[in-house]
Amino acid sequence: IGRHGGQRTTAGFDYNGVSFGDTSVNLFAGLCAVDSLESVDSMMAALARCGIQTTRMGAYKPRTNPYEFQGLGAKCLPWVFESAGKHGIKVVAMEVTHPRHIDEINDALKVAGHPTGVMLQVGTRNAQNFELLKSIGQQRAFPVLFKRGMGITLEESLNACEYVASEGNPKIVFCLRGVKTHLGDPHRNMVDFAHVPVVRRLTRMPVCVDPSHAIGRAEAPPDGLPDIFHAIGQGLIAGASMVLVDFHPHPEIALCDGPQALRLEQLGALQRYASIVRGAY
Ligand code: PEP
Repeated sequence: IGRHGGQRTTAGFDYNGVSFGDTSVNLFAGLCAVDSLESVDSMMAALARCGIQTTRMGAYKPRTNPYEFQGLGAKCLPWVFESAGKHGIKVVAMEVTHPRHIDEINDALKVAGHPTGVMLQVGTRNAQNFELLKSIGQQRAFPVLFKRGMGITLEESLNACEYVASEGNPKIVFCLRGVKTHLGDPHRNMVDFAHVPVVRRLTRMPVCVDPSHAIGRAEAPPDGLPDIFHAIGQGLIAGASMVLVDFHPHPEIALCDGPQALRLEQLGALQRYASIVRGAY
């Protein structure tokens, strides 16, 4: 991850026609959890209308409560990759919680036959699942989106990335998504986006922010923008080059994290907001 190489050099990498680096901003807006073919297709159509070629789609969900929706798993992969092909989506970020999910994704991509790329996401709950990290490091086909552990130090999260890199896969984006505190918080987690420049200083990894899991609520004051927008602004001003953000065509019936999902009608505004903020810095 570039920690022992002295100065930050060439940060980032190219993958499937998308640049992950210091200068670009990649908006990965999409479904936290795939719940139907209709949701997938409406989401991807909205992205295509905005000219966005990257998305997030959750198939394997690591839920805190075993009685809650666990994701549709391999069953929904054909929906995701067919729809991505149809709408010209180049890269889909998708969490995997077990090494066999990588094979399932590979198989589904072959069947779909579209040149869609996948970025394997390691969720905060698996930040120190070293066997999973090693498996992800051993495969070279897909880049990795590593989410910081919510209750471990930044240093421990950076070491976890070394598990991926030391197995041979250095294409890692580091994602900040808020941390747990014992203080209580109006948001779901304590927003930690002031760590963006720290990660950029210490490593060569491009940095992503996930305002949806940090803030946890899509509401806005009557006369203002949702807190999620402001968190994105903080992240981009701090130097993040990727944003992972939850949307849903009908947040009120989403099976996972509906309260934090933005509506498809807000996508254009978010895209404009991100480009204005980024352009100003
Ligand atoms: C997610 O992005 O779907 C997710 C579960 O995030 P986190 O691992 O940050 O909680």
